[in-house]
Amino acid sequence: MTDASLTPLTADQAEIQRTARAFARAELAPKAAELDRESRFDPALIGQLGELGFLGMLLPEEYDGLGMDSLTYLLALEEIAAADASAAVLMSVHNSLPTQMLLRYGSEEQRKRWLPPMARGEVLGAFALSEPDAGSDAAALRTQAVRDGDHWVLNGTKAWVTNGNCAGVILAMARTDTSESRRGGRGISAFIITPDLPGFHVSKKENKLGLRSSPTVQLTFDDLRVPADRLLGDEGMGFVYALQSLEHGRMGIAAQAVGIAQRALDLAIQYASERKQFGAPIHDFQGIQFKLADMACRVTAARALLHAAAMMKDRGESPGAYTSMAKLMASEAAMWVTTQAIQVFGGYGYTKDYEVERLFRDAKVTEIYEGTSEIQRIVIARSLRLPD
Ligand SMILES: Cc1cc2nc3c(=O)[nH]c(=O)nc-3n(C[C@H](O)[C@H](O)[C@H](O)COP(=O)(O)OP(=O)(O)OC[C@H]3O[C@@H](n4cnc5c(N)ncnc54)[C@H](O)[C@@H]3O)c2cc1C
Repeated sequence: MTDASLTPLTADQAEIQRTARAFARAELAPKAAELDRESRFDPALIGQLGELGFLGMLLPEEYDGLGMDSLTYLLALEEIAAADASAAVLMSVHNSLPTQMLLRYGSEEQRKRWLPPMARGEVLGAFALSEPDAGSDAAALRTQAVRDGDHWVLNGTKAWVTNGNCAGVILAMARTDTSESRRGGRGISAFIITPDLPGFHVSKKENKLGLRSSPTVQLTFDDLRVPADRLLGDEGMGFVYALQSLEHGRMGIAAQAVGIAQRALDLAIQYASERKQFGAPIHDFQGIQFKLADMACRVTAARALLHAAAMMKDRGESPGAYTSMAKLMASEAAMWVTTQAIQVFGGYGYTKDYEVERLFRDAKVTEIYEGTSEIQRIVIARSLRLPD
C-alpha cells in the first residue's frame, strides 16, 4: 500500500475517495494522453464533474453544493489529478477561488444567482488576478475600473486565466482607486465578469509545457461595461478577498501535486517489477529500491502535511503558513518524484509513449502557479517565531 492517507478517514470520506478514483480511472485516464497530445480541452468534463457534485464540494447544500469539508475535497482532487492533472486544475480553480470568493464575500443576491449553477456544473468559474507585468507582485496590477453611472468600465489585460475561455463567471481584480495613497493591494476591487459583457475578449491561448488540455488564456477588457451590482463585497477589498481565497487554492494545488507524484510512483513500482536487465527485474537492484523508497517517503510526507493543514481548517483554526508549507512540499515532491520516475523508466521514460513523461511536464507548474516556490518560502519565513 503506497497511497494510504495517514489520516483516519470517515466512511463518507472513504466513499468519496472511492467514487473519485473509479470515475478518474474509468473516464479521465483513458483520454488524458490524447487530450494532452492534441492540446485539447474536453468541455464534457464540466458536466461530468458537475454531475458527481465535484464542482460544488465546498458549497453548502442551500446552494446545491455537497457541503463537504476541505479534507474530503482534497481526497477527491488527488484522485482526479492522478488520472489527469489538467482536469484537476479546472476543479481546483473552480472550487477554491471563484466559488469561495462568491460564498464568502458575495451578497445573498449574488450567491443565489451564481452559486447553484456553478455547483451543478452548468457554469464554470475562473479567477483573473495575474497580469502580464504583475505575477508574484500581483498587487502591481494595472487593470482599471472607473465608475460610470450604474456601471463600472474596465480596461486592461489579465494573464494566465485558467478556464478563461470556457468559464461563464470570472472573478476579476481591477484597480478602482489609483491615488498614490492607495498603491499596492489597497484600492483593488473584485468584479463578477461574464463573457457576454460588451468589451470582453479572449486574446491569447498559451502554448504550455504541461497541463496541455487545461486552457490558459489572456483576457482583454476593452471598455468592458460591468453593471454596478457585479462588484463583489466592498469596494477596495478585492485584493484581500483574492489572497484569502488563495489559501484554499494552495491546498488544491498541493493535492494536485500529490496526485501527480503518487501516479508517477505507482508507475515506477510497476515498471521496475516488469523491466529486466542483467537477467533480473530492475526492482531487485538496491539502487532502484532506494529510489522507490525515497519517492514513497516524499509522497507520503507531502500528503500528511497537506491533510494536517486541511484538518486545521476543518476544525475552524487558521492553517496560516501550513498551507504554504504543504504547497511547497507537495509541488517539490511532485517535481522530484516524476524526475526519478523517468530515471526508473530509463530511455523509455524520455518518450511520449509512457505516461511518466506527461506527469513530469504537468508537475512543473505546481511549483509556479498560485504562488511560486520562492513566494511560498517568503510566506513561511515571515511566519517563523521562536517558541514562548
Ligand atoms: C498554467 C498556469 C495557470 C495559471 N492560472 C492562473 C489563474 O487562473 N489566475 C491567475 O490570476 N493567475 C494564474 N496563473 C499565474 C500564476 O499565478 C503566475 O504565473 C505566478 O504567480 C508567477 O507569476 P509570473 O509568472 O509573472 O512570474 P514572476 O512573478 O515574474 O516570477 C519570476 C521568477 O521570479 C521569482 N520571484 C518573484 N518575486 C520574487 C521575490 N520577491 N523573491 C524571490 N523570487 C521572486 C519567482 O518565484 C519566479 O521564479 C497561472 C500560471 C500558469 C503558468
